Amino acid sequence: MRRDRFRGQGQLGRLPRRVACALTVGALLAACSATPRPPIPADTRSATSVSASPVGSSAPATSGAPAAVPTPSAPAIASSAPSGLPSGRATPRYPTAPARPPTPLAAFGYSVAPVTSAQLGASWHPGCPVGPAQLRQIRLVYWGFDNQPHTGTLVVHASVVAATVQVFATLYRARFPIRSIRPASDFGGDDDASMAADNTSGFNCRYVSGPGPRRWSVHAYGQAIDVNPVENPYLDGVSVRPAAGAAYLDRSRYRPGMALRGGVLVAAFAAVGWAWGGNWSPPDYQHFSATGG
Ligand SMILES: [Zn+2]
Repeated sequence: MRRDRFRGQGQLGRLPRRVACALTVGALLAACSATPRPPIPADTRSATSVSASPVGSSAPATSGAPAAVPTPSAPAIASSAPSGLPSGRATPRYPTAPARPPTPLAAFGYSVAPVTSAQLGASWHPGCPVGPAQLRQIRLVYWGFDNQPHTGTLVVHASVVAATVQVFATLYRARFPIRSIRPASDFGGDDDASMAADNTSGFNCRYVSGPGPRRWSVHAYGQAIDVNPVENPYLDGVSVRPAAGAAYLDRSRYRPGMALRGGVLVAAFAAVGWAWGGNWSPPDYQHFSATGG
């Protein structure tokens, strides 16, 4: 009869009141003194999406919203519960603070303008396969290695302006770092000087470098762009160009600014149908072209 009075009141109900109180206080103290769990790093979000955006769009990146903080299904219970009581479940690991929101990214911007022979300087001369009227200069925003936005100028063929803008908008929103974007005319049309400066450039009326018969490079048509030449050197079978690119011959060790299969840079160009010289043998990691050449 007496036991019936305690039916349904749990294990504590069957213990003398003084013992039950002592065990309850002990469990609470153990819960309060449990060793705190290290916080989970806030920046565990996946890489920024690089999906192609409409050309000319100035919408800021939308990825990277703070992840929802999971709600624990049960309160944390110390695992050192006194014997005789149900042992506590393992303390769930959940962030102690919301994920850090990303720094707002200034809008991507660009402008397109005609280019004159005077502006092309030594990068063009009569006899080149395309003339100034077929070329455009694009001023665009890019993300620098200093994690700041910068403005550069690319000269390309008029037919690839839209694709070029889309690629560089994608790279900017992905915060893919670029060292410098200046026209080849700033280097007197000297491709070696441009590469040594780790400069990203498009049009340059020059022949294909390396062995073989002399023929125009796709750059002479304004339909190829070299990106971060130091991080993405050109191997002509004999030497590494630029020389500083020798530090980047190990393509399995990723460092910022590199072109990698499946990476942001290669994917951005592939999205507009451009080919990557990194697939060639010997490879030209910096080279992307609309024609595949
Ligand atoms: Zn190239």
